[in-house]
Amino acid sequence: MNRVFNFSAGPSMLPLPVLEKAQKELLDYQDSGMSVMELSHRSGLFTDIITEANQLLWEVLHIPDNYQVLFLQGGASQQFAMVPMNLMVNSGKADFVHTGSWSKKAIKEAEKFGEVRVIASSEDKNFTYIPKIDSSMIDPEADYVHITTNNTIEGTAFSQIPDTGDVPLVADMSSNILSEEIDVSKFGLIYAGAQKNIGPAGLTVVIIREDLIGKAPETCPAMLNYKTFSDSDSLYNTPPTFSIYMAKLVFEWLKGLGGLKEMERINREKAQLIYDYLDASTLFASPVEKEGRSIMNIPFIIPGDDLDAAFIDEAKQAGLETLKGHRSVGGMRASIYNAMPMQGVMELVNFMEEFETKNK
Ligand SMILES: *Cc1c(COP(=O)(O)O)cnc(C)c1O
Repeated sequence: MNRVFNFSAGPSMLPLPVLEKAQKELLDYQDSGMSVMELSHRSGLFTDIITEANQLLWEVLHIPDNYQVLFLQGGASQQFAMVPMNLMVNSGKADFVHTGSWSKKAIKEAEKFGEVRVIASSEDKNFTYIPKIDSSMIDPEADYVHITTNNTIEGTAFSQIPDTGDVPLVADMSSNILSEEIDVSKFGLIYAGAQKNIGPAGLTVVIIREDLIGKAPETCPAMLNYKTFSDSDSLYNTPPTFSIYMAKLVFEWLKGLGGLKEMERINREKAQLIYDYLDASTLFASPVEKEGRSIMNIPFIIPGDDLDAAFIDEAKQAGLETLKGHRSVGGMRASIYNAMPMQGVMELVNFMEEFETKNK
């Protein structure tokens, strides 16, 4: 077996102990004679899995009592529509902060359901920073304010969560959920596709304040109504059972590691290693303003030289994979989610140093 360090933006690496545990349990889950994939979603064994996954997430994220965790499908992209369908129901207005390709898609989808106002944008500088938000910018009548806490493609992240007062704050946390400590009570709704920091693709996690459930109009399809999943403990129809099982194993791993406090410490250390190198390098550079830098997705460029393809190719030969930047921004990008070990980051920086020396 020869595992590589995979810097993919998603689906991305899973913790090795989690994969090993899943492998061990793959053919015969807890003496059932079946794989989790073959268990009925109504069985006792699966009920235990989904209940534990739920509880572990509450514990790790310190979710307050007046919230619910929902396990859905359709990815974060489905939430771009589901959020306005369920929440844009009083004034029919919502305020958005535009920080990149994903917020653009969220805005476009929300516009189908009501009046969207972009209250701040970093488009003027190619999304290389996070705009400042203060409460005076927010329409007090808005049904919610939407932010993308971590911009996966551009490599920026909110270092402070804006105070939106009485207007619920909705956050797309797909690429930084569980990467650092957060105060869930600041949010009305948090959503995340699983395939970056939670588990395999196919699962979408929604954390929603209870008073925001049950506001969708009668015409809202059952599968797109938060209330359907809240009423059924996320078992209205067949959920993505294996993805939920894998997510449970990831939450266990995270708890065993010391929870989000320890995870954040490790993540900051990993990111710092790369940023310190980029800032000192005479070959590579970070396109992102310092205050807005993500600790999960780190884009970097080689200004003035046509060396990207050579870099990506040679890195792959060294066991460092998927370092190509997103097609919309070019250059390179290292996604270093929770499951990327420190060793992988050290090997990447060593490789970059060697590449720099060779190409001076
Ligand atoms: C990956 C990603 C998405 C899209 O997620 P899907 O689950 O593929 O729909 C949306 N927003 C952010 C911030 C992402 O990183």
